[in-house]
Amino acid sequence: MLNIGCHLSTSNGFLSMGKEALKIGANTFQFFTKNPRSGKAKEIDLEDIKKLLDFMKLHEFPIILAHAPYTLNACAARPDVLEFAKFTLDDDIKRMDLLPGNLYNFHPGSHVGQGITIGIKKISDILNEVLTPSQNTTVLLETMAGKGTEIGSRFEELRDIIDKIELKDRIGICLDTCHVYDAGYDIVNDLEGVLDKFDDIIGLSKLMAIHMNDSINLFESHKDRHQKIGEGSLGIPTFVNIINHPKLYKLPFYLETPNELEGYAKEIEILRKKYRW
Ligand code: FE
Ligand code: FE
Ligand code: ZN
Repeated sequence: MLNIGCHLSTSNGFLSMGKEALKIGANTFQFFTKNPRSGKAKEIDLEDIKKLLDFMKLHEFPIILAHAPYTLNACAARPDVLEFAKFTLDDDIKRMDLLPGNLYNFHPGSHVGQGITIGIKKISDILNEVLTPSQNTTVLLETMAGKGTEIGSRFEELRDIIDKIELKDRIGICLDTCHVYDAGYDIVNDLEGVLDKFDDIIGLSKLMAIHMNDSINLFESHKDRHQKIGEGSLGIPTFVNIINHPKLYKLPFYLETPNELEGYAKEIEILRKKYRW
C-alpha cells in the first residue's frame, strides 16, 4: 500500500482532515500546527483529536505529519525571533504528544548572515533544549533549496545538526523533492547516486518522510517554487522512481503541490496506479 497524502487545511479541525484525506484517496496527510505566517495556535480540541485517532485506526492511516510555521527560524540573529522558535518547537512537540507516534517537520532556518557554523550551532542548541526522552513525536529537519541563507540544502549541514543533538533517536529527515533538486541533487537522472550520498552522509535510517513536489525552476536553481506533479522540471518518471525505490517505498509521501483537493486527488490516483509494491 502506497502511503500518500497531501497538505490539508486545519480550519475545520482534525477529524475533518482525516475525512478529507480519505475522500481524495489519501491514507495520510500533512497539516500546519499553527498559522503558517503568524505562528498563532488554536485551542486544542481533545474530543476532535480523539475522533481523528479513532478514524485513523479504522481507515488504517499509518502516520501523519505536522509542519511547523514558516516564521519559525531556529538560527535567527534576533533574540526575540529565536525565543519564538524555541517556544513554538516546545509547544508543538507537547501538542503532538496528543497524537502519539507521528511526525513533526520544520525548516532548519536561515542564518541571515551569521554564517553556517553559527546557524548549525543555534539550531542544535534549541533542539537540545526542547527535545525530551519522553516525547512521542519524531522531529524532522526538512531538506531545503538553499534560497538566501537557508541552512539544510546540503546533506552535510543536516548531518552536522544531528551530530550535535543529544537525543538523536528523536530526530529524522523529511526530504523535499523540489528542494533537493533545486539544491543540486539530481534525483531526475541519478536517484540512486543521491540516495547513496544521503546514506553515506546522514544515513537512510534517518529518512522518515518525503515531500512530493515538482519544481518550476531548473536544476540547482536554489529557488524553491513548487509545481504540480509532472508539470515541472522533475517529471512523472522521477516520482514513479521515488515511490517504487526499494529504499523508499514504505515511507509516507506528501504532496505540497499548487492544487485544490481535486488536483491532489488526481495526483494521488496517478501515483497509486504506478505503485508496484
Ligand atoms: Fe516545508
Ligand atoms: Fe516541503
Ligand atoms: Zn518548498
